[in-house]
Amino acid sequence: MSEALQQFLKKNVTALREHGLYNEIDTVETPNGPVIKMNGKEQINLSSNNYLGLATDERLKEAAITAVKEWGVGAGAVRTINGTLTLHDKLEETLAHFKGTEAAISFQSGFNCNMAAISAVMNKHDAILSDELNHASIIDGCRLSRATIIRYNHSDMDDLRKKAKEAKESGNYSKIMIITDGVFSMDGDIAKLSDIMEIAKEFDLITYVDDAHGSGVLGKGAGTVKHFGLEKEIDFQIGTLSKAIGVVGGYVAGKKLVVDWLKVSSRPFLFSTAVTPADAAAATQAIEVLMESTELCERLWENARYLQDGLRSLGFDVGKSETPITPCIIGEEKTTQQFSRRLFEEGIYAKSIVFPTVPKGTGRVRNMPTAVHTKAMLDRAIAVYEKVGKELGVI
Ligand SMILES: *Cc1c(COP(=O)(O)O)cnc(C)c1O
Repeated sequence: MSEALQQFLKKNVTALREHGLYNEIDTVETPNGPVIKMNGKEQINLSSNNYLGLATDERLKEAAITAVKEWGVGAGAVRTINGTLTLHDKLEETLAHFKGTEAAISFQSGFNCNMAAISAVMNKHDAILSDELNHASIIDGCRLSRATIIRYNHSDMDDLRKKAKEAKESGNYSKIMIITDGVFSMDGDIAKLSDIMEIAKEFDLITYVDDAHGSGVLGKGAGTVKHFGLEKEIDFQIGTLSKAIGVVGGYVAGKKLVVDWLKVSSRPFLFSTAVTPADAAAATQAIEVLMESTELCERLWENARYLQDGLRSLGFDVGKSETPITPCIIGEEKTTQQFSRRLFEEGIYAKSIVFPTVPKGTGRVRNMPTAVHTKAMLDRAIAVYEKVGKELGVI
C-alpha cells in the first residue's frame, strides 16, 4: 500500500474510532421484515424504509422468481445498447401510469437517478435553488452539474422567493431549477409544493421533486406530487424503487420530451448496466399492487398514527412529522445513543440520529412503522419506550 494512503487511512479511521464515531454495521440475519434477528437476537424492526412490507411480499417474490426463470439473472448491457428488455419498458409504462405523467425512465437507484437527471439538464450557466435539508444524492447531483447552487432555508417560502427573484433578476443564469425532497427524511415533514409551484411559475423555474419517502405513502400511494394534484405541472418527479416499493432502482416521471432527453443524455443510463430482470419484474408487480388497492397504504398510516399517539401520550416529543416517519427527539447526543442502545437490549431496533446529520441538541431515535407491523409489536415498542424513557429521565 502507498505510504500516503496508509497515513491517510490510519489518521482518519483512527480518529473516527477514537471519537466513537466509526459506524459499525449491524448485519441482519433474517429477511428485512417487521421482526428481524441481529446478533442472534430478535428485534422489532423500526428502522427500515420498507414502508409497505413489500420487500418480502409473496407476490413480488413470485414475480422475481418467474422473471429469473424466463429472462435470466442479468440484463446483459446498458439500456442504450441492448440492455432494454421488455421488462424495463413495462416497468416504465407502469410507473408513468401510476404517477399520472406522460412518461417515465428508470435507473439503477434513486441515488444514481439524481446523479443522472440533474446534470443532464443543468450546467455551469445555470443555477439551482436547493432546500438546505435536501438528501445527499441531490447535493451530489447538483455539484456534478456544475450549476451555481443556492441553498434556501428549510421550507422557508419567503427565503425561496427572495432567492429566486435575485437569481432571475441578476440575468446571470440561462436556466434556474428548484429542487426539494417531497418528504424530508429526518423530520417527516412535507415540502410546500403548492407554494413552490407558484414561485416556480412566477420566475420560470424548472421544478424537481425527489419523492423517495413520499411514494407509496402519500397521495394514496402515488406520492407527494399527486397529494398536491401537481402531477401535470412538476417537471421532474423522482422516486426510488427501494423504499415503499421494496426492491431497488430509481426513476424520473414527467413529460415525454423530458424522458426522451434523459434517454440520450443521462450518463448512468448510457454507461451503467440496467437493473436485473428480477428487479424490474418485482418493482412492476409492486406498483400494480399499489394501483389495485390502497389497503397497504391505509394500514401504514393507521400504524403510524398508533405509534405516534402512543409515544406522544407517554410525553415523548415526536416533532413535527406529517408522515409515518416518527422521530422521537431525545436531545443530547450521548443520551440519544444510549437510548437507542437500551432499546436494542430490550429488543427494539430503532437507530439514533445525531449531530451532524441533525442540528446539535436535537438527537433523536427515528422510528419507521410499516404496514406489516402488528398492534402487538407496536404495543411492545411503546412499552419499551416507556421503560427506557423513565430509566434515562427523558419522560
Ligand atoms: C433514499 C433516498 C434516495 C436514494 O434512493 P436509493 O434508491 O436508495 O438510492 C434519494 N433521495 C432521497 C430523498 C432519499 O431519501
